[in-house]
Formats: sequence, structure tokens, C-alpha cells
Amino acid sequence: MSHRSDSRHGSINPGRRRFLQATGATGVLAAAGAVTGSHMLYSSNVRAQPSNARIVIVGAGAAGLSLASRLARELDGARITIVDPREEHYYQPGLTLVATGAWDAERVIDRNARYIPRGVDWVRSAVVEYDPDNDRVVTDGGDTLEYDYLLVATGLQVNFDAIEGMEPGLIGQEGIACVYDNPDHAGRSWRMIREFTDSGGIGLFTRAPGAIKCAGAPLKVTMLSEHRLRRQGNRNAAELHYFQPGDSLFSQPDMDEFLKRHFPDERDINVNWQHQLKAIEPGARQAVFSTDNGERTVDYDFIHVVPPMSAPDPVRNSELAWADGPFAGWLEVDRHTMQHRRYPNVFGVGDVVGTPIGKTAASVKAQVPVAVDNLLAVMQEREPAASYNGYTSCPLITEQGRGILVEFDYDLNMVPSFDFIDPYKEQWVPWVMKDRMLHAAYNAMLRGRI
Ligand SMILES: Cc1cc2nc3c(=O)[nH]c(=O)nc-3n(C[C@H](O)[C@H](O)[C@H](O)COP(=O)(O)OP(=O)(O)OC[C@H]3O[C@@H](n4cnc5c(N)ncnc54)[C@H](O)[C@@H]3O)c2cc1C
Repeated sequence: MSHRSDSRHGSINPGRRRFLQATGATGVLAAAGAVTGSHMLYSSNVRAQPSNARIVIVGAGAAGLSLASRLARELDGARITIVDPREEHYYQPGLTLVATGAWDAERVIDRNARYIPRGVDWVRSAVVEYDPDNDRVVTDGGDTLEYDYLLVATGLQVNFDAIEGMEPGLIGQEGIACVYDNPDHAGRSWRMIREFTDSGGIGLFTRAPGAIKCAGAPLKVTMLSEHRLRRQGNRNAAELHYFQPGDSLFSQPDMDEFLKRHFPDERDINVNWQHQLKAIEPGARQAVFSTDNGERTVDYDFIHVVPPMSAPDPVRNSELAWADGPFAGWLEVDRHTMQHRRYPNVFGVGDVVGTPIGKTAASVKAQVPVAVDNLLAVMQEREPAASYNGYTSCPLITEQGRGILVEFDYDLNMVPSFDFIDPYKEQWVPWVMKDRMLHAAYNAMLRGRI
């Protein structure tokens, strides 16, 4: 597979023509919707289910807002409360574009108030304690909120302190970047990436062990930095090293195989297997890795730090978390119904859930309708019948203007949404989707329209 683009400036090929037809004026959102995992478009003539239930949604991110929008539409009379202290809403899939200079940080900042549906109460606090045995949560404002049904959608927590010497204030200094997980970090990372790609040097790109959100993001930052070095004419002035805690670069095996060839052979990126970032010494510009053969210290001019991630502490320390096993600490839901495995009046959606794959906005989009259908079933004393198949998607951007649209499920099978997009090839279409279309689809998801 070549990383030279031949389609950006070429004549309209049949694939491009079909894409343009499929995404013409009225089709853009539907097409983008297909990419992010749902083929259902909003229907305004659903009859609302009467209810006086008290429903608490914790988290007003991608999952929480989308849940609130759908439930407000599907239920008539229910008292729905959403709890989140944050006023700003971040379009996180845009952060890789901010950190690599394609977008300004302002483009990914929005306001939660624009998406909270009329009739839904917004408690501007954080939940600090879950008490599922008594159907209540406690906030940092000291309030106790009682519920009949609880939806946990708090996303995840980025554990900077799991790396000795690292703290968010260092991002943007001493060659340190981290695309996770807000526009300020991404903007400061862009300064570091620009400095590195303008001058060259030794660049280290890390990846935390365990589940992280958008597992493609560390790879995208690496490849987009490599591309910018080429564009700046500085590729020969730089060494790029990728550090992987395990022995695969991507969970989907075909993509793993592609990247294992692509990184060393076509991008001259040296992959270091079984390396986990343990400590960073910013003044000395040194990183310490745990490896199978003990510690290894590596000098750098630039480093992209990806800290370990977990469910937020209040979930991790609660009865709602998996006590052990591969998902220990994450929310214990059934991977198909999104219903809690021990508390049937609790559901979870988004990055917080302990399921084998799917910490993406694309997964959120596929999970939300399932969780809502199953919640409505439980409210009517029916069995939850809707099932999430593990759909996740990543426009794996390989360089500005090109990418691979990777869509797969729990069985790690590719599940492409478009027959004219080859999931095994770098193409211009995934870039156009990422750059131009998915943000609108994401906002429509927040409003429960797709
Ligand atoms: C760099 C980067 C690139 C990405 N790229 C892509 C991509 O290309 N495609 C894709 O599909 N996805 C991508 N994602 C992933 C996507 O953004 C997330 O999977 C998605 O936002 C998850 O939604 P969520 O609602 O679970 O969490 P979030 O959207 O993070 O929202 C969680 C909300 O919960 C709130 N909260 C947290 N704790 C509490 C508490 N105790 N009490 C109350 N509220 C609380 C937070 O304030 C926040 O508003 C990317 C993410 C990042 C960081």
C-alpha cells in the first residue's frame, strides 16, 4: 500500500462519483450516520410512552445527551434529570485534527445547554457516590438524587498520575504532547508537534496498556506527524519510534497486519513491542519504559504521552463496577443489552462500560438506541430484546487527505457501511468524512436524530 495520494487531484473515479451521489445535499447526514453506526433516521411520529418514572442520567457527553434527547422524545411525563458539572461540550473526535494543525481548537468547543432537551432538568454537579442498593446517587454539591432508573454515561478518566513525573500542566512544554482529552491539551500538543516537525529530532509516540478511548488516536497522531515531517521536507532529520505495551498495534487483525507492515516498511517508524511508559523526566527529556527485560531509558526531543485510562473513580469505587476479570473497575453491563448485570434498573452507555471493544463516539451511536429500547422494555416489564453487536468505527487517518475507514464488531469482523469504500485501502473518502461530515452527524446524534 503506497502512501502517495493519486486521488486528491485526479479526475472523478467511479468510487468518488458514487460517494458524491450517495452524499448529495440531503444524503450527507444519512451517509455520515451510516459511518458512525446507525441506519435509523429520526422519526417525529413516534407515540410517547406515558410514564411518571424518575430517570437520572449521569454525564452529558456524547452518550448522556443522546440518551436524554431520545428519552425526552419517547416518554411522556417522566422526570428526567441529567447530571454534569461541565458547561462546555467537546467534540473529541476532532482533537486529533486540532493536535496536528488541521483544525483550530475553537472548532471542537460547544455548549451542553444547546443540546439538553426542554423538560429535562440539568444538575450542574458531579456524582461522587453511587448507591444502587438504595436507588440513589450523591453529588459533590451534597444533593441526593433518588431514581427509578439510572443511566451511567460518565465517559472515562485519563490517569496522568499513573506515569511518574507526568501531569497535564506539562503538555505544551519540553516537547511533551498529549491529544487526550480536551481542546486545551490538543492545542498545546499542536505547538509541540509543529516545533518537532519544523526542526526534526527524536520523536517518541506512546500508547497506554488496557482500554483507551479511540484506540486509533495514538496511531493517527504518529502518522500525521510523520506526514507533516515529509511535507516540511524534514523527514530525514527525524527518527520516529512507536512504543506498544503488547504485541499488536490494533485489535482488528487485518488492520493490525496492515499497520505492522505499514509503520516500518512505508513510514520508517520503528515499533518497540512490550514497552509501557513508566516515567518521564521533562528537564532531561528522557522517558523510562517498563519492558520484558527491565527498564529502558530513551532520550527524546518530542514525546506523545498516552496515559492509562479507567472508569471515573466514583464508578470504579462503586458497587456498579466489575469486581474482577478483564473489565475490573469498568461499569458491569451486559455487552449486548447495555443493562447492568446485577442492577436491572441501571443501564450504561459509552466509554464507561466494561465491554470488549467500543470506546468511540461511533459505538455510542450504536449503543444508545439499544439502551433506550431496553430501558423502555424494562419499564413496561418486558424482557430487553435490543442487542448491540459491538459496532465500532475509526476513520484511521494515515495522512492529511487520506485514511482507512475501519468498522468492526465484537467478533472483530469488518462490517463496512459502504460497498464502495474499501476497508483495506487508504482512500480520500475517510478523510473527507472525518474533516467535513462526522461533526454534523455527531451533533445530530446528540439531538437523538440519528
Ligand atoms: C483524541 C480523541 C480522538 C477521538 N476520535 C474519535 C473518532 O475518530 N471517532 C469516534 O467515533 N470517536 C472518537 N473518540 C472517542 C469519543 O469522543 C468518545 O468515545 C465519546 O465521546 C464517548 O462518549 P461518552 O459520553 O461516553 O463520554 P464523554 O463524551 O467523554 O462524556 C462524558 C461526560 O461525563 C461527565 N462526567 C464525568 N464524570 C462525571 C461525574 N462523576 N458526574 C457527572 N458527570 C460526569 C463529563 O463531564 C462529560 O461531559 C475520540 C476521543 C479522543 C479523546
